Amino acid sequence: MNDRIGATRDGIVIRGARILGGEPADILIRDGLLVEIGRGLSGGETVETVEAEGLIALPGLVDLHTHLREPGREDAETVTTGTRAAALGGYTAVHAMANTDPVADTAGVVEQVWRLGQEAGHCDVQPVGAVTVGLGGERLAELGAMADSAARVRVFSDDGKCVSDAVLMRRALEYVKAFDGVVAQHAQEPRLTAGAQMNEGAVSGRLGLTGWPAVAEEAIISRDCLLAAHVGSRLHICHVSTAGSVEIIRWAKSKGWDVTAEVTPHHLLLTDDLVEDSPVGSYNPIYKVNPPLRTRADVEALREALADGTIDCVATDHAPHPVEDKETEWAAAAMGMIGLETALAVVQEAMVETGLLDWAGVAERMSCAPARIGRLRGHGQPIEVGAPANLTLYDPAVRAAVDPAGYASKSRNTPYQGLTLPGRVVATFLRGRPTVLDGKLA
Ligand SMILES: [Zn+2]
Repeated sequence: MNDRIGATRDGIVIRGARILGGEPADILIRDGLLVEIGRGLSGGETVETVEAEGLIALPGLVDLHTHLREPGREDAETVTTGTRAAALGGYTAVHAMANTDPVADTAGVVEQVWRLGQEAGHCDVQPVGAVTVGLGGERLAELGAMADSAARVRVFSDDGKCVSDAVLMRRALEYVKAFDGVVAQHAQEPRLTAGAQMNEGAVSGRLGLTGWPAVAEEAIISRDCLLAAHVGSRLHICHVSTAGSVEIIRWAKSKGWDVTAEVTPHHLLLTDDLVEDSPVGSYNPIYKVNPPLRTRADVEALREALADGTIDCVATDHAPHPVEDKETEWAAAAMGMIGLETALAVVQEAMVETGLLDWAGVAERMSCAPARIGRLRGHGQPIEVGAPANLTLYDPAVRAAVDPAGYASKSRNTPYQGLTLPGRVVATFLRGRPTVLDGKLA
């Protein structure tokens, strides 16, 4: 890593950035902290300058839901390549999902992932612990040992699989209360989705593909909201994808229950029509994802819910797969899309350019809320004096065709290839050290 900036100098001044899209200001960084914010700051001769006129300063983004694939599937992604992709996407912290091989269901595995993140140094890696041993859904993993480990796990999820047994889900919700943890549920009733290939609806009917019905998600979310309320615990719903789910979460929140939810960038932009008819033809597995792309009405409901706070945050569900697992016939293809390097662009397109969110709203939903839900220290804080210098500088004015050829991720399964999207992450700072400068790894 190039430590030119920040190592040979005793500080950095970012000049003329619009903090959360507001008026231009200068930001002085020393010793990993924001030490001064105002106009006309110089910091003296020993300070490096980063010109940021026209750029928006956001708190470093935090992802609650990333698949880094290490250990076990290093052909798809590694902690190093995945965190490089995260930094290029403006992230300073990611939560690494537990469905690795071996599964992150012990203190040993979560500490291994956490250390790999520290060593790579591109962004903080906060491991998520599995809820059940081996994601088997039969007995609880060592939740307490993972919480007490060096990795200090607070988010537990069998993501990729649903904790479908109501008794186990109840026990997990009860257990995590001891250390202020949260159970992040992949809401998918397994019997209702056996063999499912895409959203159940008009398009799946025409294409003859087995449908993944909205009720399979909504039934689990309803049940888990009730369980969380019953035991007085924290529940987080992963990748909400249907209008009905939004209604249930809105109802649970109106009761005052401690339920939070995330939506992925792709569920804010793409619809199931693409499986039938898209620029890359029909039955293209690039659009195969779990939960599946839904209808235009679902997309509209998800956007509204993210805008009004019913859905708390955006999480990428970055799911890298090697070419051979994706470029095959639809039924055999792996489910998932990469998303770290395009998340902010998609959110700008779906939420900012539609007038649904301003940049302060984006900061809340892509940094502050996910850090709060994950109980992550030092991230997701307001850009103010004394805060850790975790920052993203973003240029919202450019538009460019998405070209994954230059991505840092090891995998290329992006649904946006060739699409013109707005914005560019220009710089990312992790505790005052640039991880990205001028759009490239520093
Ligand atoms: Zn999932």
